[in-house]
Amino acid sequence: MERKNAWLSYTEKDEKEMELTAEKYRRFLDAGKTERECVEELVKQAEAAGYVSLEKKTASGEKIQAGDKIYAVGMKKIMALFHIGQEPLEAGMNILGAHIDSPRLDIKQNPLYEDTELAYLDTHYYGGVKKYQWVALPLALHGVVAKKDGTTVKVTVGEAEEDPVVYITDLLIHLAGKQMQKKAADVIEGENLDILIGSRPLKDVPDDQKKEAVKSNVLRILKEKYDIEEEDFLSAELEIVPAGRARDCGLDRSMVAGYGQDDRVCAYTSFLAMLEMETPVRTSCCLLTDKEEIGSVGATGMQSRFFENSVAELLEGMGCYSELSLRRALRRSCMLSSDVSAGYDPAYGEFFEKKNSAYLGRGIVLNKFTGARGKSGSNDANAEYVAKVRKIFDDHAVAFQTAELGKVDIGGGGTIAYIAALYGMEVIDSGVAVLSMHAPWEVTSKADIYEAKKAYKAFLLDA
Ligand code: MN
Ligand code: MN
Repeated sequence: MERKNAWLSYTEKDEKEMELTAEKYRRFLDAGKTERECVEELVKQAEAAGYVSLEKKTASGEKIQAGDKIYAVGMKKIMALFHIGQEPLEAGMNILGAHIDSPRLDIKQNPLYEDTELAYLDTHYYGGVKKYQWVALPLALHGVVAKKDGTTVKVTVGEAEEDPVVYITDLLIHLAGKQMQKKAADVIEGENLDILIGSRPLKDVPDDQKKEAVKSNVLRILKEKYDIEEEDFLSAELEIVPAGRARDCGLDRSMVAGYGQDDRVCAYTSFLAMLEMETPVRTSCCLLTDKEEIGSVGATGMQSRFFENSVAELLEGMGCYSELSLRRALRRSCMLSSDVSAGYDPAYGEFFEKKNSAYLGRGIVLNKFTGARGKSGSNDANAEYVAKVRKIFDDHAVAFQTAELGKVDIGGGGTIAYIAALYGMEVIDSGVAVLSMHAPWEVTSKADIYEAKKAYKAFLLDA
């Protein structure tokens, strides 16, 4: 039951559209390297496409009706878009749910120190990372510093051509005999992922400050450039990510290499599918969550009430809110939990089971279940629902494949699917296959990106 390679089916028109999608996607990866940046960029694009914020719509007092395009944002890190359909909301929605947070290194609350005339920022990593992958490469600093006066300063260092980058050192190979004997998990310790940010001491400092003259100079620069003090780190969210733009990958330019493709590849293709919808029969929804990489926790994660509250507001705006209609709207919804899948990697073939692996270029991946060790922690999609989804994909000539994450008992992973399933809605995981998932640079196939967008649109139309 081998699935076909999507590239072989493409007409010239397909190829053109695929390239266009890949190019827009690369630009999105460059604009959104943090969850906040993703929300900001997508709000901009949504508004340009006629979407109005839920708050604005509510304040206007206008009734919400079929054809309306509405978005809601929570704490600048989670968002939901709704394109109101002709059927009552109580009949359920077709939902695409992806996440916009990615593994990275977060700057600690009290991060700045100097050691032997080098200045550093201390970090705590976020999500599942192989720590040894984050040393000795150009890194960028993205985020916000919230000040006591109520203002928020945006910081981006390391992306513009003329910007400096920051860096984490590794031990030179000449002295690494002992280090190389360590287990990969211990080669670079989490507490040692400290960002080198300066080496130039400030001149003319008083004697008692001479020991920290490099740090003082860094603080002077921060004051000058951003008007922030050392104490302002206490209320900052600064993220260290790989510096540089997403690129075409391969001599044949068939792939995209970039940071944060888990899960922005599904988030962006879901978003694009939303924008392509005319007034739908069933309400279309695209939900983009934060904190998936650390368990979907917190006010901006899938476990929060953000989504449920937004749907309640919609019902109220339509003049038909009740607790029961909210429950019905959620229970009768269908969802694709749009999250990435592990692409089969011949270099590490022994960790995959070939018949049930996802392959680059064979289209969007359906994962009936995720989880680990006997499907633990998984949402196991209903067979009837899998049948419905594969029929939709076939009807719309979408290339798709089915897979699970690696061999049985090798490892596993989770998504937001099981949380949405708590409402009683039908959910299945479906997304793009990725090579080197969670590495600073991940790789996807342009054909899969294109098929994902096609699949998501087909689902919004027909689920
Ligand atoms: Mn993911
Ligand atoms: Mn992930």
